[in-house]
Amino acid sequence: MKEVYLDNNATTPIAPEVAEAMQPFFTTEYGNPSSMHTIGGRVKKYLDRAREQLAALINAEPDEITFTSCGTESNNWALRGSLLAQPGRRHIVTTKVEHPAVLEVAAYLGSRGARVTQLFVDGDGLLNLDELRAAITDETAIVSAMWANNETGVIFPIQEIAEICAEKGVSFHTDAVQAVGKIPIDVKKTPVSMLALSGHKLHTPKGIGAMFVRRRTPLKPFMLGGHQEHGRRAGTHNVPYIVGLGVAAELAAKYMDDENTRVKALRDKLENALIEQCPDARRNGHKVLRLPNTSNISFEFIEGEAILLLMDAVGIAASSGSACTSGSLEPSHVIRALGVPFTAVHGSTRFSLSRYNTEQEIDYVIEQVPPIIDRLRKMSPFVGGDVY
Ligand code: PLP
Repeated sequence: MKEVYLDNNATTPIAPEVAEAMQPFFTTEYGNPSSMHTIGGRVKKYLDRAREQLAALINAEPDEITFTSCGTESNNWALRGSLLAQPGRRHIVTTKVEHPAVLEVAAYLGSRGARVTQLFVDGDGLLNLDELRAAITDETAIVSAMWANNETGVIFPIQEIAEICAEKGVSFHTDAVQAVGKIPIDVKKTPVSMLALSGHKLHTPKGIGAMFVRRRTPLKPFMLGGHQEHGRRAGTHNVPYIVGLGVAAELAAKYMDDENTRVKALRDKLENALIEQCPDARRNGHKVLRLPNTSNISFEFIEGEAILLLMDAVGIAASSGSACTSGSLEPSHVIRALGVPFTAVHGSTRFSLSRYNTEQEIDYVIEQVPPIIDRLRKMSPFVGGDVY
C-alpha cells in the first residue's frame, strides 16, 4: 500500500545524510569528547563542528548553543532555570497555546509559589501585544511564547515580543521547536534570550535538542552532576546525535527556500482542495502568518480520530491535535483557544509536510480524503440536527 507521511510536526523522517554522518560514532569513534587523550580529542572536533553548524542556522555564536536531550528539556530548563536565577522574581508570562512542555512546567512552578499569566489568542491564533506589555511587571522573571504553533503553524510576532521584553529588561524564552529549520531565524536581529529547539523536527532521530542562551541571561543549570557544556548542562555528550543535529541544521539551511516555495505550494494545494471539495471544512489559524508546511483543517460534525483511522487505512498519516494529545479524546487546548465552535473542534485534523513530500502524494491525499469525509458525515449524528 502507498504510504504518505503528513505528520512532520510530530516527527520527521531521518535524512540519509544525517544517518550517514552519525554512523562512525556508533562504531569506531566511541571516545568521550571530555577526555584528555587523542581518541576523545578526535571526537571533540566533531562536537565543536556540530555546534558551529547549528549556531549558523540561527546566526548565533557557537558558545551560545547548549546541547540537551530534547525540546522538552530545553523548555524545562528555560523556565525553571530562570526562576532559580532570579529569586526576587516569581512571575511567568506565557500563552494559552503553548506546548505542554511549557504549559505544564509553568503550572508546576505555579504550584510551587510562582504566579503564572496565560495570554489569550484571537480567532486567528494571534496575541494582543498590548496585553503582553501590560502583563509584564517588575516581578516577571520570564516571558515564554512559542515561535510557531505545533498544531496550527501560526507564527507569533517574535521580533516585537523580544523587543518589548528587552525594553522592559525581562528574559524572553521562545519554544522554537517547530520554527527552526522551517523559517529564517536570526538571533542577532531578534533579541530573544533563550530559544529551544529539537532535532527530530528537522530530520534527526528522536532524543537530541539544544538551547540558544544569549550571554548574560540569568539562568541556572537544570541538569546537575558534571562540567559538560561549560557547566550549563551536565551529562556525557550524546555524540552521534549531536553530530546528526549539526548536519541536519546545515541541510535545513540548504532546503529553506524549497520549504518556503515548493512545500508551501503543496500545502496550499492540499488545503484549498480539501476546503473546496469538503462542505463545512474550515482552516484553523491565520492564513498567512503560518509555517509553510502546516495546515490544520476542521471538518465540522465529525471526529478527528475517525478521520485519522480511515486515512490510515489508505496509507495517509496525519494527526488530530498534537501527537501528545491524540490518544486522548480531549479536544486540543490550542484549537479551543481560537474559539473554534464545538462542532468543529473535534474534527480538527493537522496535515504537516516536509521536503520529502511530492506532488503525487498530495494528489493522492486530495483524491482519498473527500470521500472519507463524505462517508463519515453520512454517519454523523450531528449533521443537520441540533447538536445541543
Ligand atoms: N515544543 C513544541 C512546539 C513541540 O511541537 C514539541 C514536540 O512536539 C516539543 C516542544 C517537544 O519536543 P521534544 O519532542 O524534542 O521533547
